[in-house]
Amino acid sequence: MEKKQTTDRYTLADLENWDEIARDVDPPIRLGVFGDPVAHSRSPQMQNAALRACEIDMQYARFHIRPNELRSALLLLRRLDFVGINLTVPHKIAAFTHVDEADESANRTGAINTISVRDKKLRGFDTDGEGFLRAIRTEFSIDLRDLRVMIIGAGGGTGHAIAWQCALENCERLVLVNRTLKKANALAEQLRPFFSGPRVLGPMMRLESVGLDESAMRIQLADIDLIVNATPLGMNPSDPTPVPARLLAPHHIVFDCVYGSSKTALVRAANEAGARGANGLSMLLHQGALSFSIWFDREAPIEAMRSALL
Ligand code: NAP
Repeated sequence: MEKKQTTDRYTLADLENWDEIARDVDPPIRLGVFGDPVAHSRSPQMQNAALRACEIDMQYARFHIRPNELRSALLLLRRLDFVGINLTVPHKIAAFTHVDEADESANRTGAINTISVRDKKLRGFDTDGEGFLRAIRTEFSIDLRDLRVMIIGAGGGTGHAIAWQCALENCERLVLVNRTLKKANALAEQLRPFFSGPRVLGPMMRLESVGLDESAMRIQLADIDLIVNATPLGMNPSDPTPVPARLLAPHHIVFDCVYGSSKTALVRAANEAGARGANGLSMLLHQGALSFSIWFDREAPIEAMRSALL
């Protein structure tokens, strides 16, 4: 029988008719990423390279699942023969309420980027925080615990994971910035016990939450080393930078969770200001390698995954 090619992108309607849609696809699709948008995701090229390197006879695909479709898609996943999936923007927080169990990382952050399917049950994990930690070490040869960090987009799934990682690493100072201030305030309340000890010299508080407002950010940025973009701003070329370029200074280090084939506008602005900057490719690599280990209970072939991304 002729082998069916994988489609660029599947939908909820395809999952509802999965036996028919995927019957002759070879190797079979048993992993994927749910997102909206999802076309940008480079997880398929990275995870498919890992599957080939480990001679695992299955493939990983993209699924365009809208926010109002997530529940149905996850219900379907329970009875289809999937090993697991990743969740990307905007599903990470919503997914938390739809899994049967959550591990410690997901329970902490209230967000899920990896699901493993076993015995028709969904188990949720969050590998973004650890992936971020490894990416910062790789990109800048520096540890979070030595840094004063500002997270823009702290109200989202990725922002939560990164904020928790900063707290666990006992970073010097953490500023949570969010468009919807009450979400940043709520997260700050959860993290407050981690920042009660004295560490920073000077009058600045160790933990603060502010709105996405230029004057509030300007005041904070004098006492910040690492600026992290955890909003989707930058995914479209016409997006404004999440922090105005005029606020960036040579002492800043900028990490943009958004990734693309070239530098994002934020990383370009950082470089023009004399600051170091990196986009989210290395975080994608490390969080993906951790997901692979969860699904297959073995170390991920990280070099094959890195080459596929580059
Ligand atoms: P999410 O859960 O939907 O969170 C989005 C966050 O960004 C929220 O805090 C939201 O603020 C804020 N936001 C959204 N649109 C905004 C706008 N127009 N202006 C200002 N703030 C805005 O998304 P997510 O899953 O955390 O993903 C965020 C980004 O990180 C995506 O671009 C994703 O691709 C990227 N990411 C990359 C990696 C990687 O491995 N490199 C890993 C994870 C995520 P409100 O609370 O006010 O809505």
